Amino acid sequence: MNPLSQSGWIGQIRWSVDGSGFDLRHERDGDGSVDLLRKVETLTELEEVVRRDGEGKYRPLRGEMNLVQGWFYRAKSSEELREVLEVIYPGAVGNWEAEREGRLVQGDWKEAAKRQMGRVQKLIENGEKAVERAERELCQARCGKSPLWSGKKCRAEVGRIPLVCVEPCPIFWDVALASGS
Ligand code: SF4
Repeated sequence: MNPLSQSGWIGQIRWSVDGSGFDLRHERDGDGSVDLLRKVETLTELEEVVRRDGEGKYRPLRGEMNLVQGWFYRAKSSEELREVLEVIYPGAVGNWEAEREGRLVQGDWKEAAKRQMGRVQKLIENGEKAVERAERELCQARCGKSPLWSGKKCRAEVGRIPLVCVEPCPIFWDVALASGS
């Protein structure tokens, strides 16, 4: 079943389908009437909503499980649903499709580090411990994505699009470098 044509979930977002579109909301906002929630009208407005957590703090990690609650978005088609998900979890639907079609080419963190600046490349030599620490303290503690580059698997579940991480993010490298110094 394709969640982009049915009700589904991704990260902290779930959506329900009816005859004319999809209602998206935070999973903790329950399944009551959307009348109790603030309507987000445009993708630009949505971008503003997901940029900050419930305390108004900037969210540098889009996969972090601290999405603000209390809003809903009405997508009128599966194409619009896809655009909405791209704003909330950039790249997630594309990665999921690539994974399903066997197109997701996955390397380890060392291969990703080779494509970075020199200071990150130095981790390849003796940064194994720093990378393990950063994965524990950042990826496992704060992020809802599964880091495929560290050997984690894509968790398949009916109706749920998995959140996967195909390459360490810039924040990860910063944490690994700080933890190795
Ligand atoms: S590297 Fe870790 S923290 Fe960064 S996006 Fe991937 S899983 Fe999340």
